[in-house]
Amino acid sequence: MSLTTTTKLHNGVEIPVIGLGVYKVEAGTDVYQAVSSALEQGYRHIDTASFYQNEEGVGKAIADSGIPREEIFVTTKVWNDEQGYDNTLAAFDRSLNRLNMDYVDLYLVHWPVPGKYKETWKALETIYEQGKAKAIGVSNFLPHHLDDLIQAATIKPMVNQIELHPQLAQVETRQYCKNNNIIVEAWAPLGKASYFDDPVLQELATKYNKTPAQIIVRWDYQNGIVTIPKSVKATRQQENAAIFDFELTDEDMEKIDSINQDKRIGFHPDEFPY
Ligand code: NAD
Repeated sequence: MSLTTTTKLHNGVEIPVIGLGVYKVEAGTDVYQAVSSALEQGYRHIDTASFYQNEEGVGKAIADSGIPREEIFVTTKVWNDEQGYDNTLAAFDRSLNRLNMDYVDLYLVHWPVPGKYKETWKALETIYEQGKAKAIGVSNFLPHHLDDLIQAATIKPMVNQIELHPQLAQVETRQYCKNNNIIVEAWAPLGKASYFDDPVLQELATKYNKTPAQIIVRWDYQNGIVTIPKSVKATRQQENAAIFDFELTDEDMEKIDSINQDKRIGFHPDEFPY
């Protein structure tokens, strides 16, 4: 087990279970260095978005790495003001251009913009059928959005990327996705490093001789959740991925479950200022 460990999406595409997120990593040198260093550590999955305004640097770091394109899993997303059928097709082409690639591995609807996301999804289906995205999915969709989307869709989303960490365990959405063969990806998996002092995380970190970040990423892994922790520092990138040499007991998994408070850091998808 390593950073090349994958899980299968419902269309058979394999997604590495740990990736590097690059939200708020500055375009240019910063993102180039963060991605280059992650690839050197063995990461093979990078999560960006048109909203992050750093796709060029991501693409350049991948191109310069010397690693064959097909060995790296690249995700990008269509932003809220780019949604609708024609707009999304155009937004996708702009992302591909910035990445300097001829396909992405996963293209996501970033947020369920009311009145728009079903048309946006049709565009993703077109892009998928053209082979320009190996997989398509959504982000920040609650069960009611998924119900609405799936009713109108030809292709079911393969992924739902949601805010998910021990204080926001997303039990209901995870169950919905499991029932519908949708792989859940956790954004802000580390809770943006805001509660590593939690007593349960501290206790388990001591018990397993690991860090709170590693306890959380391992909890995700044992739950079948794909994670994309963000760090620009090589040492932390390495730390966040060194989770394949220990196993949390069922009892300890439940202890982490007990941290849940349904507490968000980001917007509730029904309250986003679209
Ligand atoms: P995160 O939970 O990954 O926390 C990142 C922060 O934690 C970093 O800024 C870093 O300072 C700190 N950190 C990382 N590793 C650490 C370690 N080992 N020890 C101590 N501190 C550490 O939060 P995030 O960046 O918001 O989320 C991860 C990724 O998820 C993003 O980069 C982005 O790709 C994605 N994301 C998606 C959405 C969405 O709407 N789809 C929203 C936010 C983020």
